[in-house]
Amino acid sequence: MDFFTKSVHSSLKSREAIKSKSTPIYQTSVFSFDSLEELEGFYDGDSSYLYTRTGNPNTDELGMAVAKLEEAPAGVASSSGLSAILAGFLSVVKSGDHIVAADDVYGGTFHILNHELKELGIETTFVSFEHEEEIRSAIKENTKLLFSESISNPFLRVENIQALVKIGQEKGIKTMIDNTFATPLLLQPYKEGVNLVVHSATKYLGGHSDVSSGVLTGDEDLVQKARGKIVNLGSNLSPFEAWLTCRGIKTLALRMERQSHNAERLASALKEHRGIQTVYYPEAVSPKGKGAVVTVELSGSADHHRFFKSLGWVKIVPSLAGVETTVSYPLGTSHRALSPEALEKLGINERVVRISVGIEDSEDIIHQFETALEQSMS
Ligand SMILES: *Cc1c(COP(=O)(O)O)cnc(C)c1O
Repeated sequence: MDFFTKSVHSSLKSREAIKSKSTPIYQTSVFSFDSLEELEGFYDGDSSYLYTRTGNPNTDELGMAVAKLEEAPAGVASSSGLSAILAGFLSVVKSGDHIVAADDVYGGTFHILNHELKELGIETTFVSFEHEEEIRSAIKENTKLLFSESISNPFLRVENIQALVKIGQEKGIKTMIDNTFATPLLLQPYKEGVNLVVHSATKYLGGHSDVSSGVLTGDEDLVQKARGKIVNLGSNLSPFEAWLTCRGIKTLALRMERQSHNAERLASALKEHRGIQTVYYPEAVSPKGKGAVVTVELSGSADHHRFFKSLGWVKIVPSLAGVETTVSYPLGTSHRALSPEALEKLGINERVVRISVGIEDSEDIIHQFETALEQSMS
């Protein structure tokens, strides 16, 4: 072989089974075949792989892993939480259809519904999901989907999933839940009868703030339809991001259990503090915990600029769910696009702080917040 040829082919991998403990990263855009029969086999559905956008072992591993955790029959990974949410929507609705969604959904999801889908002829009515009657009265002849989040942001309203499923089943309307904040450790909406459960795996599933990914799980037919959207609209996940997310999932239970425990301790400590007006933390989610996000409203006597500057190793991070404790400022980030009226209605002002509680020692976390509160009031 000439050097030119050798440099291309010298690294040809052997196809023998090498028993790697962790899943290898199939960092390839396309797969190879030894014969036309083998190639034809792909189209006959022999579960081999052809091209990474249409399927890759790492992205499939992620979809299946989350489906197992949600105890759903099918799962598919995509490039982000938002693309998984969009694929979920498009697996149910088409032009001319109508969606009823909770009025406190994630900002990016609100944008998809209120702008992107609206432009495609899919209308959404947003109502408070706190009252069943409001959901019922928003349902129209062409309503095909009810959408909400298991735990909302930033005030951590816990959805009444059973009530939602009941309405959906009564009216023959599909239901879909964003389970990002709860994770399948705390809540498994599919087991309660929800048709589609979606995750921003960027958050707790990944858990280390080093990957953007999404996963949709649920009814087989809907997930297969969503997979088609992801493939054909090109919102597939890269093999490396899928691999990182799968690695994160191995410690999901450990992290979530510890972070929920720390969050509960922080929430009760802050309730006692004169620098805090209100603590938002769910009263009940699951016997395994109440989630790892605590939202507070600082009291009128606290200077919020000084509070954010005095947090030491707790950094301002406009996301959540890493192993480090971080804070975010909803008014200036996740909710900055909202009108003054919408902000007022939701209760978001400059004193609202969302805390994503990490895996550190709970006493150290509490101490850091107490110190910042003292400094913000002096
Ligand atoms: C972050 C988030 C999303 C969007 O996920 P991306 O991975 O950023 O696309 C959707 N829903 C919730 C509840 C989120 O927290």
